[in-house]
Amino acid sequence: MRTHYCGTVRSEDIGKTVTLCGWVDRRRDHGGVIFLDLRDREGIVQIVSDPQRTPDSYAKAENLRNEYVVKITGRVTQRPEESLNPKLATGEIEIYADQIELLNTVGKQLPFQVSTAETETVREDLRLKYRYLDLRRDRMNSNLQLRHQVVKAMRRFLEDEKGFIEVETPVLTKSTPEGARDYLVPSRANPGEWYALPQSPQLFKQLLMVSGLDRYYQIARCFRDEDLRADRQPEFTQLDMEMSFMSQEEVLQLNEELVSYIFKQVKGIDIPRPFPRITYAEAMERYGCDKPDTRYGLELVNVSDLLKDSGFKVFSGAISSGGIVKILPIPGGNDTISNVRIKPDGDLFKEASEAGAKGLAYIRVREGGEIDTIGAIKDNLSESQKQEILKRTGATAGHLLLFGAGPTDIVNKTLDRLRQVIAREQGLVDQNKINLLWVTDFPMFEWNAEEKRLEALHHPFTAPNPSDINDLKTARAQAYDLVYNGTEVGGGSLRIYQREIQERVFEAIGLSQEQAYNKFGFLLEAFEYGTPPHGGIAYGLDRLVMLLAGEESIRDVIAFPKTQQARCLLTNAPSSVDAKQMKELHVASTYKPKS
Ligand code: ASP
Repeated sequence: MRTHYCGTVRSEDIGKTVTLCGWVDRRRDHGGVIFLDLRDREGIVQIVSDPQRTPDSYAKAENLRNEYVVKITGRVTQRPEESLNPKLATGEIEIYADQIELLNTVGKQLPFQVSTAETETVREDLRLKYRYLDLRRDRMNSNLQLRHQVVKAMRRFLEDEKGFIEVETPVLTKSTPEGARDYLVPSRANPGEWYALPQSPQLFKQLLMVSGLDRYYQIARCFRDEDLRADRQPEFTQLDMEMSFMSQEEVLQLNEELVSYIFKQVKGIDIPRPFPRITYAEAMERYGCDKPDTRYGLELVNVSDLLKDSGFKVFSGAISSGGIVKILPIPGGNDTISNVRIKPDGDLFKEASEAGAKGLAYIRVREGGEIDTIGAIKDNLSESQKQEILKRTGATAGHLLLFGAGPTDIVNKTLDRLRQVIAREQGLVDQNKINLLWVTDFPMFEWNAEEKRLEALHHPFTAPNPSDINDLKTARAQAYDLVYNGTEVGGGSLRIYQREIQERVFEAIGLSQEQAYNKFGFLLEAFEYGTPPHGGIAYGLDRLVMLLAGEESIRDVIAFPKTQQARCLLTNAPSSVDAKQMKELHVASTYKPKS
């Protein structure tokens, strides 16, 4: 039907007659001459309809409205000097419409303007309900195209350069242990039994290594029934990889190459290699979190050893009960952060208490290193402690020092949170920086206080560090996360490939032999048949594309996402089903709608 995409006509085409199809982005009447912006997925081109030059088309152009679908044939012409538009890829030319054919109209009032010229923000529920219109818009169109480019780059690198083979793994499967709640599917053929949708292809990709596939990848859909946030969806996509006979170092290097390749291909950016690395322990110590944003400083300073005998009971008490005292030093904070904000009812205090902190002690550093503070800290800091605090934090006049004191996890969580809030409000986050960072040496387990048992921090197939093998409970794992500007975009590990170690790990997380066998017997059995050493990683594709697109929500890089209530506003899923269907599936609902 057409010769070109609208957005691809260029000055090289001047003099040619072209036929274009697309949507009317907008129509402008300029004293007798009508200008149309015609849009398709490649962009916009200006169409001119002049009653003198193209009388037939003029009458048709007069009746066009936004989002009408048209086919236009006309001559590509150089734009006059004064109407050149350097912002538009097609800005040097315009097309005189000889023929306009109306292919379809818009029968209803548009729920929002689609036009590229429209700058008003549209409510997200409307965008999601009319997602097909939303995806017509420039921003979403380019996000989907970017996503496609990212996936294309991944495939090209893994297949053509590194010999990976794509294999699909089941979606109707057995529960896989990534620690979230499962989506379950009742089996009609097997009454009373259920499939789980995969939280990841973890077990299958390991079995593919047992099969000798050597290098596997998949653009895999994963399902986790978790509380949703801006960077979480009930179904999301991973670039999932697994490889045999590679050391952790080799896995990391291959992945650095992959990530650099993606940046080069889709953004034209060279990422320096090797990527910086930090151990989990160091990340927690310096940043209070395992996915630090290293685009800015504001590093935490541990002063537990210094204040363990402090007369200030909040400090000494925290330490004697096994906790810590840390400082978040804020240069210039004296001017920018008032006492009101730190005291109860203040916004920073609220941030801290949401992270579990009971209070926020602080010190202000004045001219000449004079320390200005109030209440109990004031009377309980010796001169040498003051000097040491100044030395460790590097604080000078103008610094505000915020203290976190208490259980280690709460202090870290609090100061991490404040660090991020303050960096943002003080404009310390350089949006042009791309900081990729490996976090390594995660602990194998963390304590689940609710269930009173150890829990695998990554997943229970992660191999312990061989030097820690004798005390599994405190062992470091051969696990790694890739962090991009403070967001975890990938994570993986070397795997256990010996049955005996796998059984010990199951035992450590409180699975009885019988439970382990019921859940993962097939894996344990496979380990008896010659399993190669292997390891892998999975990237959150949606998150990665979100960051590359400069978006703040993964919903903006997914064609048909769900809301925070896990609903699809377009199709209105989930919805109730017929009693007959339920019966066939051997299920009944216990849910009683509130009347
Ligand atoms: N299956 C893991 C996850 O989804 C990734 C991996 O270990 O390869 O986080």
